[in-house]
Amino acid sequence: MTKRSLLLIAWLCLACADVTHVLLTHAHRDHVGGLGFLPNAKVLGLAEEQPNLDEHANGRRIDQAIVDGEVLTFGEHEVRVFSMPGHTPGSAAFLVGGALVLGDNALLTGDGTLAPVPERNSEDPAGVVTSLVRLEDRLVSDDLEVRWIVPAHSGGVEGRKALTDYAEHQRAARLR
Ligand SMILES: [Zn+2]
Repeated sequence: MTKRSLLLIAWLCLACADVTHVLLTHAHRDHVGGLGFLPNAKVLGLAEEQPNLDEHANGRRIDQAIVDGEVLTFGEHEVRVFSMPGHTPGSAAFLVGGALVLGDNALLTGDGTLAPVPERNSEDPAGVVTSLVRLEDRLVSDDLEVRWIVPAHSGGVEGRKALTDYAEHQRAARLR
């Protein structure tokens, strides 16, 4: 290992120790496997996600259960919590500074179209659709500005339009 690599690891370890909070969009292994590197972080998540945390992040507990509609405050920043059951029972989305953090609730395709994650990856695929449509309803009814949509496994897109288009398509399909 080079001296530069050792320095980088040392820096990362110091930075990891400074992380005070982790907000869980959900607890699949690829989202919580690194929690062991954050020994001082308080884990915030929906209580329904604890079984997945048990399975994928040995020994970690949700330190602070959060609920749908809650607004968390971190210094000057507010984080609004949305329950999104479907991909997992305790999936969540967060709106912070205009960024809608979607986790694995949806992906953006190459042309900027929003789509649910592949059905095989979700515990309740129909629930994913319902949660995405409900999310769009709430963003509109609560007059919340979305400047960026940020899924976990694809690039982001500016504005709320991709989610609105998806929700309108789903509503039209239900009427057919
Ligand atoms: Zn996932």
